Amino acid sequence: MRVFIIGAGPGDPKLLTLRGHELISTCPVVLYTGSLVPKEVLAAARPDAKVLDSAGMTLDEIIDVIVAARDAGHDVARVHTGDPVLFGSTAEQMRRLEELGVEVEIVPGVSSFTAAAAALGKELTLPELSQTVILTRAEGRTPMPEGEDLASLGQHKATLALFLSVNLLHEVQRQLIPSYGEDCPVVVVHKASWPDQQIVRGTLADIREKVKAAGIKSQSMILVGRVLTSTDFANSRLYDPSFAHRFRKARPASAAAPGGEASALCSGGAASAGEGA
Ligand code: SAH
Repeated sequence: MRVFIIGAGPGDPKLLTLRGHELISTCPVVLYTGSLVPKEVLAAARPDAKVLDSAGMTLDEIIDVIVAARDAGHDVARVHTGDPVLFGSTAEQMRRLEELGVEVEIVPGVSSFTAAAAALGKELTLPELSQTVILTRAEGRTPMPEGEDLASLGQHKATLALFLSVNLLHEVQRQLIPSYGEDCPVVVVHKASWPDQQIVRGTLADIREKVKAAGIKSQSMILVGRVLTSTDFANSRLYDPSFAHRFRKARPASAAAPGGEASALCSGGAASAGEGA
C-alpha cells in the first residue's frame, strides 16, 4: 500500500501530469484538498473509489482515512493543488505517514507561480535583469522565519512570486517599496488557468487599489519585478552565434566567447547545456 501525494496543477485539468491522472484513475481512495482541485481531475476516479474532500478535516482525521485505507490494503491518491512541495502542508502528513511506516511517493504538479507567468506570457528570469526567483509569502497569521521577511528578501531585487498574500498587499507595498521602488511592476493573477482567470497589472504603488477594485480576495499569485515589463533586456548567451556550448560550435564569423566550448553556459533553454557552468 502506498500514498501518492499528487500535484493537481493550478486549475486547468489538462495541466495534470499523466502520472497524476493515472494514479487518480486507479487508486481506490482519493483524498483531495477542497474546491481548488478541479472537478474534472476528480472525475477521473474509479466509479467505486472513495473520493473525499479534506477541506473540513484535521490532520488526525486525514491520517485516520489513510490508516483505514492501509488496513484495507488500498492505495491513496492524496491530491493537492499546484505542486505539492510548495505551501501544501504536505510535510506534516508525510512525517506522520513515515512514523506509521506508510510508503509515500510525490508526483509533482504545475505550480500556480509558473501558471501565472504562463498566463502573462512572461519569462521570470531575464539575462542581466533577474536570474533569481524567490518563492515566498507575506507575513500573515503564519509568522515568517527570521531573515525571510519581505523587506529582507527585497534587498536582492530578484523576481518575487508571492503565495497566500493577496489580502496582505499593504504589507507587500510597505516592505518592498524601499528596495524595488514605487514604480516596480506587479501583476496579480487570480485563478491562473481557470476559465474565470483574472489578471490585474499595476505597480507597487497602485496594485492594492486595483486589486480591491477588481474584487479579488483569494486564490491569487502576486508576481513582482522588472522582468514583468522589460523589453530591452539583453539576449541570452544560449542563442548567441558567437557563443559555443556543448550542443553548438561558435559561428566562425564572430569571436568565440571567453572560455570557449568548455565554458558552456545556459540561460535556461536547452536541456542540460551548461548546467553548473
Ligand atoms: N501548492 C500550490 C500552492 C498552495 S498555497 C502551488 O504550487 O501552486 C495556495 C496559494 O497558491 C494561494 O493562496 C495562491 O497564492 C496560490 N494559488 C493556487 N492556485 C492558484 C491559481 N490557480 N492561480 C493563482 N494563484 C494560485
